[in-house]
Amino acid sequence: MFDFAKYLVYLQFGIGLNKKIMKKLLLAILMVISSCSSKKELQEVNLYSKRHYPVDEVQYKNFEKLTGIKVNVVKASADELIERLKNEGENSPADLFITVDAGKLYKARELGLLQKFSSNVINENVKQELKDPDGYWTPITYRARILVYSKERVQKSDLSTYEDLINPKWKNRLLARSSSNAYNQALMSSLVANLGSEKATAWSEGVVTNFARDPKGSDRDQVRAIAAGQGDVAIVNSYYIGILLSSDKDQDVSAGNSVEVFFPNQGENERGSHINVSAIGLTKNAPNKSNAIKLIEYLTSVEAQKVYVNNSYEYPVNTKVEPSEIVKNWGVFKVDMLNLNKLGEFREEAIKIFDSTGWK
Ligand code: FE
Repeated sequence: MFDFAKYLVYLQFGIGLNKKIMKKLLLAILMVISSCSSKKELQEVNLYSKRHYPVDEVQYKNFEKLTGIKVNVVKASADELIERLKNEGENSPADLFITVDAGKLYKARELGLLQKFSSNVINENVKQELKDPDGYWTPITYRARILVYSKERVQKSDLSTYEDLINPKWKNRLLARSSSNAYNQALMSSLVANLGSEKATAWSEGVVTNFARDPKGSDRDQVRAIAAGQGDVAIVNSYYIGILLSSDKDQDVSAGNSVEVFFPNQGENERGSHINVSAIGLTKNAPNKSNAIKLIEYLTSVEAQKVYVNNSYEYPVNTKVEPSEIVKNWGVFKVDMLNLNKLGEFREEAIKIFDSTGWK
C-alpha cells in the first residue's frame, strides 16, 4: 500500500494533478482496497433463543465488549422458533438456535434446520460425555431434574428413585408442573428410553394418582407450594433452588430453605438422575457462521461458564469450572448417561403417555 501511495505522488508530479484531486483519488483507492480485504460477514450474530434467564444478557454484552460482534436475540418457545426457522428457510437471518432441552435440538436437526460444526476450542472446553455424539449441538450448561422434599414432613430415607414416586405412601403429597412443559416431557422421554413405554405409562398413572393438586405453575411454584404446606415432594430443575436461595425476595429465600434437594436413582445399580442440557445448534444457512462459532467458543469458556454457574446456578459444561457454592453443597451425583438425543426421539411417545394417563 505504501509503495502504491508513493507511486501516486510520483504520478502527481509527473502529470501535474492538483493536490485535492490526488487526495480524493488516493482515498477512493484506499476504500476499495479496504473493502476488498475486510470480511464479507457483518460483525453480528443472530440468536433464536428459548433461554429465559437474566444471565444471558450479561453473557452477550461481555461477548460484544470482547469481540465487537453484536449479538441480536429473538426469544420465543422452542417450537415457535423451529416453526420460524422452517418458514424462513434459506433466508433465515438466524445463526444459532438455543434451547433448554436437547429434545428440541434433535427435532430441529430432524427437520434439516441445523448443520454440523466443530471447533478445537469448543472441543477442549466441553466435557466429552455431554457432547452430542452426532455433532449437531453443543451444550452450554446442564441441569438435573431432581426431587425436593419438605424438611418438616419428609425424611431423606423416604426417597429413593423416580420410580418409587408411585408408591402409595406419596398419595396426595406430590407436586409437579403441567405435562406441556418440556422439562417434564424430557423426563418422561428418559423413562420411556430407560424403562420402556409400558413401565413409563404405569409410572405416569401412579404419579397422577399421588398428586397433591392438579399440575400448575412453574418449577419454583412447586417449591412455594411445599413451603405453604400444599404438598411434600416436588419434581423440579436443580438450578431453581439456587435461584430461590439467592433471591432478594425473602419469601423466595424461605421457600428455598423449606426444602432439601434429593438426587434420585443414585443406588449402585441405578442409572442416575435425569439431566438435560441447555444447548446451541448452528442453523443450516447461518449467514454469520464464524461469528456464531466464536460465540459458542466464548459461552463454553472458563470465563463465561463461571458467569453461568454463579447467576443461573446451572452446572458447567467446562471441565475447568466448578458449580456455584450453593450447588456444590448438594454434593456430587450420578448422572443418567442416556444419549440426550433420545429425549427428542421419544418425545411423541412421552406426550402420548401424559395424555393417556391424565397428567394435565
Ligand atoms: Fe428453566
